[in-house]
Amino acid sequence: MTLVFATHNAHKLKEIQALLPTTIKLLSLTDINCNEDIPETATTIEGNALLKAQYIKEKYGYDVFADDTGLEVVALNGAPGVYSARYAGAQKNDADNVALLLQQMEGNPERRAQFRTVIALCLGKETYTFEGIAKGSICQVPIGNNGFGYDSIFVPEGYTQTFAQLSQEEKNNISHRGRAFEKLLVFLSNS
Ligand code: IMP
Repeated sequence: MTLVFATHNAHKLKEIQALLPTTIKLLSLTDINCNEDIPETATTIEGNALLKAQYIKEKYGYDVFADDTGLEVVALNGAPGVYSARYAGAQKNDADNVALLLQQMEGNPERRAQFRTVIALCLGKETYTFEGIAKGSICQVPIGNNGFGYDSIFVPEGYTQTFAQLSQEEKNNISHRGRAFEKLLVFLSNS
């Protein structure tokens, strides 16, 4: 079976390929010569994952999966959510996003938040979604140098360190993305 992972990130592709049965060959967007911007205009995380996967299925005909992730903060009514990448503006800058989020939460004792990943899979004529959630809280100042995005201000439940202080492997084991991919892998291994 050949399956497209709707990403240009060769590192992500390799990581997932290693977890799949050898009967599944994974291709990236680069591999299928898809170099245009795929629309991400939905107003929900699942909507964007579906848009990306369905765009590739319809335009290129491949079976495909796409992921989309957002940080949902309780005190901000679920923001930045689907807008996590561009929270502080179209420049999509991690440091700006983190600074804005901390500013919005200044003085607020309600720090609960969760990362949520949705993977949409278009397989034949069917579409499936898989969700992964990592619950935690937003700390007062950024701590740690690993990771990306909001990792430096997110302390996962049951931990005292931020995602940015954990190793890649430790984070993968408990992360939203790790959990969503685990569900996808189980599904693919059984289908
Ligand atoms: P994407 O859908 O994977 O591109 O994620 C959208 C945005 O959510 C990213 O630009 C980051 O700001 C944030 N984000 C996604 N995953 C993570 C994560 O694992 N740690 C921290 N921030 C993340």
